[in-house]
Amino acid sequence: MHSKVVIIGSGPAGLTAALYAARANLEPLVVRGLQPGGLIATTSEVENYPGFVDGIGGYELAENIEKQAARFGAQFKDALIKGIDASARPFVLTTDGGETITADTLIVSTGASPRKLGVPGEEQLLNRGVSYCATCDGFFFRGKKVVVVGGGNSALDEGLFLTRYVSELIIVHRRDSLRADPVLQERAFSNEKVRFVWDSTVDEVLGDERVSGVRIRNLKTGEVTEETADGVFPYIGHIPNSGLFQGLLDLDEGGYILTDGRTRTNVPGIFAAGDVVDHIYRQAITAAGEGCMAAMEATWFLAEQEHATKKASQAETEQVTSPALGQW
Ligand SMILES: Cc1cc2nc3c(=O)[nH]c(=O)nc-3n(C[C@H](O)[C@H](O)[C@H](O)COP(=O)(O)OP(=O)(O)OC[C@H]3O[C@@H](n4cnc5c(N)ncnc54)[C@H](O)[C@@H]3O)c2cc1C
Repeated sequence: MHSKVVIIGSGPAGLTAALYAARANLEPLVVRGLQPGGLIATTSEVENYPGFVDGIGGYELAENIEKQAARFGAQFKDALIKGIDASARPFVLTTDGGETITADTLIVSTGASPRKLGVPGEEQLLNRGVSYCATCDGFFFRGKKVVVVGGGNSALDEGLFLTRYVSELIIVHRRDSLRADPVLQERAFSNEKVRFVWDSTVDEVLGDERVSGVRIRNLKTGEVTEETADGVFPYIGHIPNSGLFQGLLDLDEGGYILTDGRTRTNVPGIFAAGDVVDHIYRQAITAAGEGCMAAMEATWFLAEQEHATKKASQAETEQVTSPALGQW
């Protein structure tokens, strides 16, 4: 199987890249991975993706972009990429089924997964009070009491964002001081909606149909208490899905793929887009925007390669047909 553009990942970044590459007549191949539609497909309501006045279901949004890309010739494959040989072009990819795919260019859009608390109730109550995205879901918690878990920049930044909506915000942190920037700490400490629970972890998310509270354990005293809450936002970090690219692509210290601002990685012909690159915004629209950029870059890259190959073969033909000076 060969494609001019192979896209690894079928979230908003990968699907948008597929749409743009397909409209450039490149017949891209999208390898969907274990999460078709990406993270956005796991959320029931998306209210901040432009163009949908009344919002849209996350699954439906992903499905729509996929259909739109398919309309222009994008191909899709259910597989997981397990290996990449980028020592020469075309790149050679292997799937979990042992198949080989060759690619003239590669767009990596494998996303990032929010780090889970790994406690009872978290998985069961996902999207029913448990959320990993305050920017996305804060609006649904107007006038409610919410727990944020974590003490870094994300926890405070997103927690402060939540205070626009919630009536009370409890930040549970495993230490007695914060890792977040001093300016964020100052804003959190002076916000009257915010209360801190120090030296503690959330041991369980409580609730049947929806979150009703959390069980908190003090790590110093061992004391266990229950706190009522309508929502829980774990902010203990994200894990970029970049393990496959270690040793091949330049990564930052957090494992995010480094690009030059134009989605180009350190390997010519390999582009990266979306949450696997972006540790700041992590939104469907920003991932989609980067997917668009990556597809345009891949298109230009292929055009340049084609031009260079044509020029080289022209020069070769001229050399063969016009005798060298010394032969006259
Ligand atoms: C619960 C939740 C709610 C959210 N709500 C919103 C919202 O309302 N609005 C908003 O803008 N954003 C929201 N977000 C954030 C948004 O989902 C992400 O920012 C967006 O999905 C990132 O897109 P992406 O394409 O970069 O990566 P992802 O969506 O994470 O997609 C990654 C893709 O890569 C594939 N993949 C990974 N590894 C491999 C491999 N080895 N081989 C093949 N495929 C692979 C996966 O199967 C997946 O298809 C939410 C996130 C969560 C978790």
